[in-house]
Amino acid sequence: MNKIKDISSKLPYAGTTIFTVMSKLATDEEALNLSQGFPSFDCSPLLTERVNHYMKKGFNQYAPMSGIPPLRESLAEKTEKVYGISYDPETEVTITSGATEAIFCAVTAVVHPGDEVIIFEPAYDSYVPAIDLNGGTPVYITLAAPDFKINWEEVKTAISSKTKAIIVNTPHNPVGNIFTREDLDALAALIRDKEIFVISDEVYEHIVFDGEIHHSMMTHPVLRERSFVCGSFGKTYHTTGWKIGYCLAPKVLSEEFRRIHQYITFSTVTPMQYALADFLKIPSHYEELSRFYQDKRDKFNQAIQASRFKFTPSKGSFFQIVSYKEITDEYDYDLAVRLTKEIKVASIPVSVFYNDKIDDKLLRFCFAKDDEILERAGEILCRL
Ligand code: PMP
Ligand code: GLN
Repeated sequence: MNKIKDISSKLPYAGTTIFTVMSKLATDEEALNLSQGFPSFDCSPLLTERVNHYMKKGFNQYAPMSGIPPLRESLAEKTEKVYGISYDPETEVTITSGATEAIFCAVTAVVHPGDEVIIFEPAYDSYVPAIDLNGGTPVYITLAAPDFKINWEEVKTAISSKTKAIIVNTPHNPVGNIFTREDLDALAALIRDKEIFVISDEVYEHIVFDGEIHHSMMTHPVLRERSFVCGSFGKTYHTTGWKIGYCLAPKVLSEEFRRIHQYITFSTVTPMQYALADFLKIPSHYEELSRFYQDKRDKFNQAIQASRFKFTPSKGSFFQIVSYKEITDEYDYDLAVRLTKEIKVASIPVSVFYNDKIDDKLLRFCFAKDDEILERAGEILCRL
């Protein structure tokens, strides 16, 4: 007799993530996949050559829990070079299994049952489950189209004695905007005298357009002392399938972070870490990344210029959101599914990034795709 009837879910609202759903549908329908955020092109052959090299040399056993020392050192050097901020590779740099793990560990490190965590919507889909699984309460601040600017007065009102952390994301997925220096100052002014942590998702740090720069939380002294800065090598090196990320945080924060990390995954895949440690020493790749993706953004935007979609060019990330208000008033999820089936172009409906599934008639297209795919998708979308 089977005694197991049901599992009482800790995430009863969660189905399969939209990225899995839309990518599967795109494959089944043989559609152009501009939905899930991953490059359609390969990483540098030098990087795969390095992985092969280290695998053949026998670097195939567990890496140290916090990451291999050469990668932590290369990352600390790169961070110093790019932002002028130093982190101790021994105690303040941790290599994780993707930024997803870094964000989860950071949330778990600070959030206790009953704590509130402020998040901005639309929000990347892993934040709320991480808060919920730790017994925290998400406090939502809804950003409005078209510019999705944060109103810091609203944040001030949302902060309570229970606020434990604020999760920020710049450059932003899905809307593609970026924090300004003034945003950092405003955030710092609100929390400088409070015990509030910042969990900063900066996975698109090297993908910022039109001559703007990425303002990392680490570059503000008040924010640096309380921030877990989470990054991803997947986005920077076209290796999303390797799932290697990191967390930069002051020693006390990193200690607690590692306490969690060691029981979530213990450590991260070894030969890839060695390969990345070598590759990080070549700055040209990440230095040229913004230009590379700006060309892709422009190619896609040009290709849909004559369509009835309306958009403001993305300022960063590899996503462009577009409004389809002039085309149809269908629910965005239904439209994304229909377009994948009927015209064979897959996208992500933006309502999935809102707790209340707000449908502002927006779709997200990923332009980290070969030019030919962007042009073909554009041609098709212009016919709508
Ligand atoms: N944060 C954001 C905003 C993302 O878009 C993604 C993934 N695409 C992640 C975190 C997760 O990164 P990783 O694949 O390194 O886990
Ligand atoms: N971050 C990617 C996106 O936004 C997807 C990552 C995932 O599939 N979980 O599309």
